[in-house]
Amino acid sequence: MRTSALLLITLLSISSSHAFEISDNFWETGQAVFHVGISGSSPTGGTWNDAFKRSMAAWSSVGSFEFVAIDDYLDPCIDRGEGLFGDGATGVDFGASVCGSEFGESTLAVTLSAGQCLNQQCTGGFTITDADIVFNDGVTWDVYSGSLRLDGSSEFERVALHELGHALGLNHSTADAAIMRAFVSDTNSLQSDDIAGIASIYGAEEATLANIYGVTLVAPDNATISGPNNSNNLSGVLSSSDNQLDGKSLDLYQYTFENDSLIDIQLDSQSFDPFLYLVRVSATQASLPSSTFVDDNSGLGNNARINRSIQAGTYWLGVSSANNNAQGSYDVSIISSTSNPSSSFETFTSIYDVDVLINPNPNISGSLESTDFEFNNKFLDLVQIEVTTASAVKIDLSSSDFDTSLLLVDIVNNEVGTLALQNDDGGSGANSRIETTLQPGTYWLGVTSFDPNESGNYDIAISLVLP
Ligand SMILES: [Zn+2]
Repeated sequence: MRTSALLLITLLSISSSHAFEISDNFWETGQAVFHVGISGSSPTGGTWNDAFKRSMAAWSSVGSFEFVAIDDYLDPCIDRGEGLFGDGATGVDFGASVCGSEFGESTLAVTLSAGQCLNQQCTGGFTITDADIVFNDGVTWDVYSGSLRLDGSSEFERVALHELGHALGLNHSTADAAIMRAFVSDTNSLQSDDIAGIASIYGAEEATLANIYGVTLVAPDNATISGPNNSNNLSGVLSSSDNQLDGKSLDLYQYTFENDSLIDIQLDSQSFDPFLYLVRVSATQASLPSSTFVDDNSGLGNNARINRSIQAGTYWLGVSSANNNAQGSYDVSIISSTSNPSSSFETFTSIYDVDVLINPNPNISGSLESTDFEFNNKFLDLVQIEVTTASAVKIDLSSSDFDTSLLLVDIVNNEVGTLALQNDDGGSGANSRIETTLQPGTYWLGVTSFDPNESGNYDIAISLVLP
């Protein structure tokens, strides 16, 4: 269920420098699927579709964001039931109007972005779920490279490049040469300022481990490990056809640890001297040096073992060898344990006569019960958290018993302050998620249900959001 949606319109004007500007909006997956089925061809430069897809590929090649083209037509203006433009399916076409509204007098094209707000006021931007593009049919278009022609025609491919920049979350740049400058110019390719812009949202291409090493990732069964206690085992074979890292074969597995955990990973082989990597990766698959761990011989014999506490997050587990050209089978055992925080609740009664549970642990378990405080016929638990240093946080509320709804307010001088965030389904399934930056202070997390009179167990996980 969507809590709120916002429509953003960005324009490109004809005519004749700080630099890139990002919107607060981004594709959560780092990927946007475009239906590309514009009919017809330009007078001298081939089909519109080829030009549009070249522009998509240009953006995909310079950063960790990817445009994916599907070769079919989708009317960018069609309403597919979730609000105009916010249909979650992204199309492109020429149009005599912007889906019913007139083009501005000098407007060449419009990108219509929609998504799910990150907070109730939508002041923190939104995760983009749709970005339709309409080119002005009243303009004479062609496709060509180089300087703008003086014959009055507009060049389609560089305008597509510009609009796709809006679609991925960039605003206009003040850099003279940038493709994201507000006005069309002789620039017909992505410039360093544009590339810095996309990198600031999605991460730089160079920072990606997979890109550096050209590695293939494997997501093993049970790749999500959640607390309080969990284990996973896998077996594999290191071979000469694997990814190679410094002359050594490398198998990479991706695991997500949902809680801060004490982990014990053992890598054993009878065939070679194993070498173990554990590397935390960001949402854009950049490695985080502060959470990169390696081991050669901490296990039995020559075996490798990493036994330590780690923060919740996504990790790549690398199996390699201490020596070059080593091959053979191996076994990995992962044991993860999370301290169970549910017994550490203290309770106090707030000035609102509501019981507030105080819990200093980042992972909190509780249950909504019919004896709880009731608000709009929904049961409510309040959990107080203290933030000591300004932090970008991700707060997940999950339950298999009810459709969760998560509230976050700040408490100033024992009163509810100005911050009031709410989320219903921002997490997986019907779970809730709030991502925001919290200044030092006191906050109450409200745990409630989307539907009235629901009860059951829930878990809250608070983690730092990675860059
Ligand atoms: Zn623009």
